[in-house]
Amino acid sequence: MTQPKIHIIGAGIAGLSAAVFLKKAGYPVVLYESSKMAGGRCRSFYDDGLGCDIDNGTHLILRCNTNVFKYLKIINARSELVPFSPRYQFHDFKSGRQWALNFSNIFTLLFSRVPNIRRRDFLKLWHFFFVSPEVSLAKVFGNTRFYKNVIGPIEHAVLNTANGEGQAKLLVPVLRKAFFKRKGAVPYLAKTSLRDCFVDPALEFLGHKITYNKRLKSIDCENETVRTLSFDGEHIDVSKDIVVFALPVWQVAKLMPGFSGPDEFQSIINVHFQNPGFHQRHFVGCVGGIAEWIFICEKTISVTISAADRYKDLSQEDITKLVWREVCAVQGEKFKQPKHQFIREKRATFHQTPQQVLKRPGLATAYKNLFLCGDYVNTGLPSTIESTILSSKNVCQKIKGERNDI
Ligand SMILES: Cc1cc2nc3c(=O)[nH]c(=O)nc-3n(C[C@H](O)[C@H](O)[C@H](O)COP(=O)(O)OP(=O)(O)OC[C@H]3O[C@@H](n4cnc5c(N)ncnc54)[C@H](O)[C@@H]3O)c2cc1C
Repeated sequence: MTQPKIHIIGAGIAGLSAAVFLKKAGYPVVLYESSKMAGGRCRSFYDDGLGCDIDNGTHLILRCNTNVFKYLKIINARSELVPFSPRYQFHDFKSGRQWALNFSNIFTLLFSRVPNIRRRDFLKLWHFFFVSPEVSLAKVFGNTRFYKNVIGPIEHAVLNTANGEGQAKLLVPVLRKAFFKRKGAVPYLAKTSLRDCFVDPALEFLGHKITYNKRLKSIDCENETVRTLSFDGEHIDVSKDIVVFALPVWQVAKLMPGFSGPDEFQSIINVHFQNPGFHQRHFVGCVGGIAEWIFICEKTISVTISAADRYKDLSQEDITKLVWREVCAVQGEKFKQPKHQFIREKRATFHQTPQQVLKRPGLATAYKNLFLCGDYVNTGLPSTIESTILSSKNVCQKIKGERNDI
């Protein structure tokens, strides 16, 4: 039996991973991407000023992100991710104190010494297992020191929300896997760049079958079926084929009649500085300032600020100046502010509050030959690469399971 052709729109991680899983399952796939490069929000580019490749934002992956590792295994890029210690170092800019949260397992976490936190405060983690979907982190933990020094940094990094606005339930599968899967919380970073790890090996696997600068403008539907895809000056008949939207949710809302999904977003800022001579490849979590994660790499020092809409009244220059001061404070050395690149990704993820999470759609649509994948699709996981790849895997399984009905 000949397999139907699959048209995948969007070549971010959702589109690339959907194409990889479907090609592996024996389907003919075609990818269309509106920009001139693949990767979407997980992209890298050469920066003339810094004289090296940089990522739009540093991406942290955990060992328990099993779908990420499966994807990397298929595209033969597993060695492009390198592990770090699960003892996460922290620095408090207000008190100058430093500590480590040891996420090796639940017991090492309980015995982590965090300033002003009693061991029994960690028992509050138990509340997670009883939360309902309407509950925010602020409702569970209040404005306590435990929230500030333990839960807050996790909320910023995993949910891209701040001030306890994030849905508490979304952290449950992450914490469960991180603690109960062996080495689950071991953090990984791309060895050289996101492109070398997640993008180029996938393009290689797909035989570079992708059309760039091809923006989907509209779709025509009839009898619950997508009939035509319209790009600039080109109309493709897909009535006998399958279409996968691997687009950001705001694009899906524009293209698909009657669609409803998350419609509030949060930005992430990354400031990449030329490394003026700080040694050792490591990263530090920060509280009490603006910088949240500082990654010291060989050529660059990259600072991540999540849920960055909080700082929209500050200018780029002010943020850069402040975070460079914070980098020097963490390193305990003063250096003149080096060359840098400032990247504000305005819609880095949807705003993962209880109300917005409840708006996540499933992978099926009102059209029997159209499916959705991407970080906003409901997988029960936070809007991350792991969830993105899981959504693509689910689409592949759905197509394999239902191909006779389509
Ligand atoms: C700064 C930053 C830091 C992050 N940090 C982490 C992290 O540490 N860990 C983690 O797991 N996740 C992180 N994420 C989240 C992660 O990057 C995203 O969840 C993931 O990349 C989403 O992939 P996607 O394919 O669903 O969407 P996108 O990457 O947005 O891909 C959509 C693609 O569709 C294309 N497109 C749009 N419109 C059209 C059209 N009409 N026609 C054709 N193509 C179109 C776009 O150009 C794009 O290439 C971070 C995100 C950002 C922005």
